[in-house]
Amino acid sequence: MRRYGHQDFPENTNDCVANVHNDYGVDFHQCCRRRGHGPDGLYCKQHAKMIERNPNSVCVPRDRQEKRT
Ligand SMILES: [Zn+2]
Repeated sequence: MRRYGHQDFPENTNDCVANVHNDYGVDFHQCCRRRGHGPDGLYCKQHAKMIERNPNSVCVPRDRQEKRT
């Protein structure tokens, strides 16, 4: 499970995994476009294209294992 932004919003598994700035550039959130493109089908069309051009241009939070109790 990836988490986004200062509020640690959980990943929406239907959407692109890219981490994007909000309008103010002070926080991050998950890209709200549908995934289905790029490596492992984890990206939207736009971010898949960006990765194709430069893999370092797209920021993705590390996939964290949730601790089970
Ligand atoms: Zn995207």
